[in-house]
Amino acid sequence: QGENDPLAAFWMPFTANRAYKAAPRQLVSARGMYYRSADGREILDATAGLWCCNAGHCRAEIVEAIATTAATLDFAPTFQLGHPLPFELAQRLAALMPAGLDRIFFTNSGSESVDTALKIALAVQRARGEGTRTRLIGRERGYHGVGFGGISVGGIGNNRRAFGSGLPGAGHLRHTHDPVRNAFSRGFPAHGAELADDLQRLVDLHGAETIAAVIVEPMAGSTGVLVPPAGYLGRLREICDRHGILLIFDEVITGFGRVGAATAAEAWGVTPDIITMAKGLTNAAVPMGAVAVRRALHDAVIDAAPGGIELFHGYTYSGHPLAAAAGLAALDLYAREGLFARAAELAPHWEEAVHGLKGARHVIDIRNIGLVAGIELEPREGAPGARAMELFHAAFDAGLLIRVTGDIVALSPPLIVEREQIDAMVGMLGALLDGVA
Ligand code: PMP
Repeated sequence: QGENDPLAAFWMPFTANRAYKAAPRQLVSARGMYYRSADGREILDATAGLWCCNAGHCRAEIVEAIATTAATLDFAPTFQLGHPLPFELAQRLAALMPAGLDRIFFTNSGSESVDTALKIALAVQRARGEGTRTRLIGRERGYHGVGFGGISVGGIGNNRRAFGSGLPGAGHLRHTHDPVRNAFSRGFPAHGAELADDLQRLVDLHGAETIAAVIVEPMAGSTGVLVPPAGYLGRLREICDRHGILLIFDEVITGFGRVGAATAAEAWGVTPDIITMAKGLTNAAVPMGAVAVRRALHDAVIDAAPGGIELFHGYTYSGHPLAAAAGLAALDLYAREGLFARAAELAPHWEEAVHGLKGARHVIDIRNIGLVAGIELEPREGAPGARAMELFHAAFDAGLLIRVTGDIVALSPPLIVEREQIDAMVGMLGALLDGVA
């Protein structure tokens, strides 16, 4: 550790860093459903990397597209100029989005997509002559990345406290996750509309004329797989429509097949005004994010952009050739292998398998949709998160990669997963839970 530690210079998110220091481990290669660890073991990937390698790892088509493009056009400025790949990718993406969201802004990450979406919402409200609408509403326990906007609207109290109040006027829907009387789990579907009425409470409290936009993950991912109850997203849409508020779905996790459709908007039949994406967009082979917006919003932003769009949304790497090439190859793969439909087809098997853990030691709640599941453990007294972290390490040692967040185990395998691999994942977890104190 310290000065002599060759890894000390590599900054990682501090919690991960702490875990890493306790048990240093590295992944050195990957293929399909598996990673290989530095000590030469195959690790079955139950997390698609970090909810992102939806088509599995190191797929030849994507590797080839990146290599070919790298040798042909390493970079091209997109100010005043262009190159063909992002145009083609934008068209392909627009075709996957709900009808009407056919204008695309490219970014380099989910966090940048969130900041871009919030900026667009504010600019659109101003362009409409609604400049008093500056308030951005998120949700407690929402996660929207680590950009300044994402932290401000995000529902991670510690993040907001660490940076002061963040964006002025950010507000939060208060309903949150309660593992006992779980607002978002399948047990309380009737509460959907009622929960969404919390937005009406904020409108009554602050006045609609102060609120620019609401941002939610249709299904909260990083904070523990909180599946919205029936009616919830639809009611949010209604309230937004009634009060001139823009609705943003952060689909960084739910996009590209995870919930059994191209988008959660499609899966739940609710169309927002803006959708943010990243992760699965390139199958994570090259960092890239995107924001899809309604055409009228796009045009309002372009018309209003101070000093031209490049000073408003001018990331050097927006639409980078390698990312665009990876994106096109990933979308090709998703389509050719029918992976979004495959996630929907496998969902009943997945549901049955993960609910087989009901009654397993420590398990207090199980939630699932598409090919994602959250398995909530009873926290160890006085040491929240410790039990799940112990399970994480035991799973890795046994050859299984899971994601844990607090005391919730999140499972989101690549969409190429086979039924036997699903059974193996769940079987291993059940056995390992028995051994965890
Ligand atoms: N939004 C959501 C819903 C996310 O899950 C994440 C990342 N887990 C982000 C935004 C941030 O994405 P990135 O890490 O690529 O910046």
